[in-house]
Amino acid sequence: MKHIVLLVGARPNFIKVAPLHRALAARGVSTILVHTGQHYDAAMSDVFFKELGIPAPDVHLGVGAGDRMTQTKKIMDALVPVLRERMPDALLVFGDVTSTAAGAMAGTVAGIRVGHVEAGLRSFNWRMPEELNRMIADHHSDWLFVTEPAGMTNLKNESITHDRVHLVGNVMIDSLRAMEPAVAGSRILTDLGLMPGSYGTLTLHRPENVDDVDTLRPLWDAISAASVRLPLVFPMHHRARAKFDAFGLSIPPTIRAIEPVGYIDMLALLKGSKVVLTDSGGLQEETAAFNVPCITLREQTERPVTVELGTSEVVGRDRSKILDAVSSVMDGRWKKGGLHPLWDGHAAERIADILKNA
Ligand code: UDP
Repeated sequence: MKHIVLLVGARPNFIKVAPLHRALAARGVSTILVHTGQHYDAAMSDVFFKELGIPAPDVHLGVGAGDRMTQTKKIMDALVPVLRERMPDALLVFGDVTSTAAGAMAGTVAGIRVGHVEAGLRSFNWRMPEELNRMIADHHSDWLFVTEPAGMTNLKNESITHDRVHLVGNVMIDSLRAMEPAVAGSRILTDLGLMPGSYGTLTLHRPENVDDVDTLRPLWDAISAASVRLPLVFPMHHRARAKFDAFGLSIPPTIRAIEPVGYIDMLALLKGSKVVLTDSGGLQEETAAFNVPCITLREQTERPVTVELGTSEVVGRDRSKILDAVSSVMDGRWKKGGLHPLWDGHAAERIADILKNA
């Protein structure tokens, strides 16, 4: 295989594509980077290209903001002609965002073979848009690159043939390890006046948590109560910011809400945290890599290895469970974490080897 289109669209995609772009280039496989424009501003997109050394996209589809259906249609309308014109040997899609599912469908329509990086994850919660995106991408793919053992079981249960499925590990960890020297130079803790271990980091943006005021308000009350025990830094996703404004939720003095930060500063914040409270997928993995306790504010996780081996516990939105979990960290009762052996910083190289020889 000589010629691959890499499709990205949203923040977590940029972090996943960087090591693969490098690994393919090192093997003499040429890549065309296509950005859908799902996340398009400086804080959610440009900073990641710069920090991770990803070249500017070769093609920008300019899709912009919109609901899932509009974005999906715009991505497919714009991507199918690009694929037909360029005729790559494969199209790679990443993770579980709208661009992932729309890209995989566009690949099938254009007659291009598709690979899905981070395949096989399942929360079994059909109300999550990400769950549908994962399933659509997996069922349109010829190569399924899986991060953890549960993914292998999930794909087998969905009758996806074994020869398409490869347990390769986690490209998020590749990026994290590659950036560790830069993380040591981050000034974010100094700028925010924080000492390592003296604060927690909070992120919240999943529709299931922030879209409904009757869910968000009690969750926010619980988090606010927890922040009395340990002050929190909250890099606020634009989606969460819009909901907080719409619902008139106020931020207590024990929680420092800041704009979304770049990847290097985010890793520095995570690494210095006493605990992380989050509904993000990527943060469950990054906290495992840093051995930082992770209180996962979701009813279920599609990344069970972060609980089985890692530092995460899934506590949902229950106030007493959240407060108990924070107490357990503060009282030194939290478990120590480990990492799956394939989360070793070399997943992208394994993927690139498979594709080069395909
Ligand atoms: N992230 C970041 N800056 C922030 C918040 C998150 O760089 O202000 C990084 C984070 O470290 C992780 C990725 O973005 O690598 C996760 O993105 P997000 O939570 O948006 O998506 P998910 O992982 O839930 O798909």
